[in-house]
Amino acid sequence: AKKSDVETVGIIGGGPGGYTCAVRLAQLGAKVTVIEKSKMGGTCVNIGCIPTKVLVHSGDVAASFKQMDDIGVVGEFKGVNWDKVQAKREYIVNRMSGGVSALMKANKVKVIKGTAEFVDKKTVKVTKEDGTTENMSFDATVIATGSKNFAPPIPGLDTEGVIDSTGALSLKTQPKSMIIVGGGVIGVEFATAYQEMGTQITILEGLPRILGPCDGELAQQLEKIMTKDQGMDIHLECMVQKIEKTAGGVKVTVDHKGATETYEAEKVLIAIGRRTNIDGLNIDAAGIANDRGRITVNDRQETNVPGIWAIGDCVGKTMLAHTAMSMGEVAAENIMGGDSHYGGVEPSAVYSNPEFAGVGLTEEQVKEKGIPYHVGTFPLTANAKALIENGGLGTMKFIVDDKYGEILGFHVLGARASDLVAEAAIAMDMEGTIDDVIATIHSHPTIYEAVRDTACVAEDRPMNMP
Ligand code: FAD
Repeated sequence: AKKSDVETVGIIGGGPGGYTCAVRLAQLGAKVTVIEKSKMGGTCVNIGCIPTKVLVHSGDVAASFKQMDDIGVVGEFKGVNWDKVQAKREYIVNRMSGGVSALMKANKVKVIKGTAEFVDKKTVKVTKEDGTTENMSFDATVIATGSKNFAPPIPGLDTEGVIDSTGALSLKTQPKSMIIVGGGVIGVEFATAYQEMGTQITILEGLPRILGPCDGELAQQLEKIMTKDQGMDIHLECMVQKIEKTAGGVKVTVDHKGATETYEAEKVLIAIGRRTNIDGLNIDAAGIANDRGRITVNDRQETNVPGIWAIGDCVGKTMLAHTAMSMGEVAAENIMGGDSHYGGVEPSAVYSNPEFAGVGLTEEQVKEKGIPYHVGTFPLTANAKALIENGGLGTMKFIVDDKYGEILGFHVLGARASDLVAEAAIAMDMEGTIDDVIATIHSHPTIYEAVRDTACVAEDRPMNMP
């Protein structure tokens, strides 16, 4: 039986939030229209998750040449054909964006190319590519307008050679050197890809460590790998003062604990952060509440205005594609009369080399909360498969609550960390304990058996570690 009066739904934005919401709504019987001003797939497919991984993959393959002698394969790294890297990026992006469009068609979702803005609570004005406008009304409207790159007002930001993440994806030639301002997830990913492909990378980070929100112990290990093994320069506690043009590129002046320092490179990538994007949406006309640009929603993804919902980056919580997708499904189900709630276990990954992924709390967060806990760490050199693949680079770590053996957090720096984190995520989502992980038989030899080994270390019964 139908639980909702809603028949028509309009979604503003065709990124992971918008397109996932559209598919779920269609499955539940709604007539769905997606309004997208640019390409389907949003930031993620076109200028985010996917194209960055193309560059990272080219970099990782280039870097693997360093291992060849060690594993008895004869070959020599002769550099990168930049045009082909770019062609590959374009091919993958176009194919994935086309895939999202095909998904819309298969689900009978109507896609309108245009820019949407609110006229009032019930009306959305769409300005199409040819300049014509159309006022549209839906039983429910979902805002999924994403986010945009953020840069603080640093003097010289408009200097030639200063780029953002979007610019760094489509450079015409590979720069010999690049300064990356910001050692967060996006900065570290670009640093990895470019350094591995042969660009000399310098990271300037304002905080005392890179990857601030990630587990500190493993972030420090990664920083060492990036500097000592991969040859990047990383300078912490550097606040950028100004950027100027030089004959060969760009110069960045920083304040480093009171001292002035300068760094030069061919390009400067600003990767300081992202902000919600509600530009031109005119949410005030509909009376939609927001907190400094973040659309206010409850855990059902409802805004303060009945019939208007918001999902993904534009609500300013975790700005990740899978967060947007999860919120999209939650909103769709609620619009169609269900009772779904966003929240729970949410893994995240950094596509460094090796990868770095985590789920749940970091050790710093557990300490701050004052929860009695214990930790198990397992070096991947003790795992045969990891040792074969990349010399066993990295560590796994479980953080476990003392009282019930609840898994509070799992973090992994190592080969395929972005996939390995899934096991802990499922265990946590099902409220499994550390003993449940130990009770699960893991196949051998695999890297994922190290998850069990790490759990065994946490519970003081190490099986594969002296
Ligand atoms: P978006 O993907 O930003 O989509 C919003 C869409 O709305 C856009 O297509 C835009 O054109 C459209 N739009 C905006 N305003 C209007 C309007 N008024 N009318 C019509 N259309 C409009 N996340 C991960 O999980 N993993 C990663 O590896 C990862 N890597 C990233 C790398 C980079 C360089 C960047 C920048 C981001 C990365 N992210 C990653 C984050 C991820 O891209 C975002 O979290 C995700 O795209 C958010 O989805 P969304 O649907 O909320 O918004």
